[in-house]
Amino acid sequence: MAAAAASPLRVLVDMDGVLADFEGGVLRGFAAAFPGEPRVELAQRRGFSTQKQYRSLREDLGAKIVSVYESQGFFLGLDPIPGAVEAMQEMIKMPNTEVFLCTSPIRKYKYCVQEKYHWVHKHLGPEFVERIILTRDKTIVSADLLIDDKDTIRGVEPNPSWEHILFTCCHNKHLKLEPPQRRLESWKDDWRAILDSKRPKAE
Ligand SMILES: [Mg+2]
Repeated sequence: MAAAAASPLRVLVDMDGVLADFEGGVLRGFAAAFPGEPRVELAQRRGFSTQKQYRSLREDLGAKIVSVYESQGFFLGLDPIPGAVEAMQEMIKMPNTEVFLCTSPIRKYKYCVQEKYHWVHKHLGPEFVERIILTRDKTIVSADLLIDDKDTIRGVEPNPSWEHILFTCCHNKHLKLEPPQRRLESWKDDWRAILDSKRPKAE
């Protein structure tokens, strides 16, 4: 009797900071909208929230930076992270692998949600539009891996099924991870080895 096929490896890939260059887009949008204001260069970014860091610079800058990513066209205009499109095209073709995009829209979702769909269609193609999961709580989504640039991912499920792989981004690169926590430095890094590490070993 043939052995049962191994169940596919399920991978969740975040969008902002992993596939789409949110940080670069925010800085570019802020500089264009508020050219006279002080800004946080990408090398100086610390912490997941741009709003918090800009507010710490000066109280009113928090609202100004938020206005950048709430504006029409912001999410659609983000550049792909280098290597992301190629990695996704390769990953979706891998045998025994299920890839989904798992992304949290901002609270003012008016443009964000629609533009995220357009962005995926434009850069990754229609087959990835079928694979979008929009949620403010990623802990309830079941998978083997979650590739995400947010350093701490919490929600209602205290023990998510996935292993979180921290994708390196300007705001998290200085963080020291506690083993066994792992990073993916970029899409040029060996993401295939990370996927393989979660696959069942051949007997
Ligand atoms: Mg992200």
